[in-house]
Amino acid sequence: MKKIAVIGAGITGMSSAYTLAKRGYAVTVYDKNRYAAMETSFANGGQLSASNAEVWTRWQTIFKGMKWMLKSDAPLLVNPKPSSHKIGWMLEFMSNIPHYESNTIRTVEMAVASRDFMTEMAEEAGIEFNRVNQVFCIFMMMRLNLRTRIV
Ligand SMILES: Cc1cc2nc3c(=O)[nH]c(=O)nc-3n(C[C@H](O)[C@H](O)[C@H](O)COP(=O)(O)OP(=O)(O)OC[C@H]3O[C@@H](n4cnc5c(N)ncnc54)[C@H](O)[C@@H]3O)c2cc1C
Repeated sequence: MKKIAVIGAGITGMSSAYTLAKRGYAVTVYDKNRYAAMETSFANGGQLSASNAEVWTRWQTIFKGMKWMLKSDAPLLVNPKPSSHKIGWMLEFMSNIPHYESNTIRTVEMAVASRDFMTEMAEEAGIEFNRVNQVFCIFMMMRLNLRTRIV
């Protein structure tokens, strides 16, 4: 049996490990923390809203981020101290601005596929959680690719 190591026991690592194990691989998950899901996957907003997958790579996000830096209760703050990693990250962020539309469409497609996969996985594994089925609408002013399903 082929052995696979997955590094990181957040939602991404654990669902990858689950799928690989189902496909017959011997999977070992490694994490720097003692338990699974102790970092970003620990206490997020809990929303499973596939349609809310608009990418942030827009000039508006940069202007909003600059305004937030002057607010003490900002929802997101960037430490202004420069580092090569941060500068590289910012350049990469900006170089993706022209691809905002196509990246959003691809992200929505991926989110819809992930939601279907998650539902299937939870049902199959008998995982019950306080899931609530609600609809909310997001209207985006962009050309919709016909491959994109409305969710
Ligand atoms: C405030 C907030 C609210 C959010 N709300 C929502 C929401 O409502 N709905 C939604 O869908 N998403 C939400 N998200 C996003 C979502 O939580 C993340 O996209 C998701 O948890 C990322 O999972 P992950 O497995 O990729 O990363 P993580 O959960 O961060 O897992 C990465 C794991 O890798 C481990 N690791 C890292 N480096 C190493 C190493 N060198 N060696 C060993 N282990 C290592 C870490 O310990 C960690 O356990 C939110 C995020 C934030 C911050």
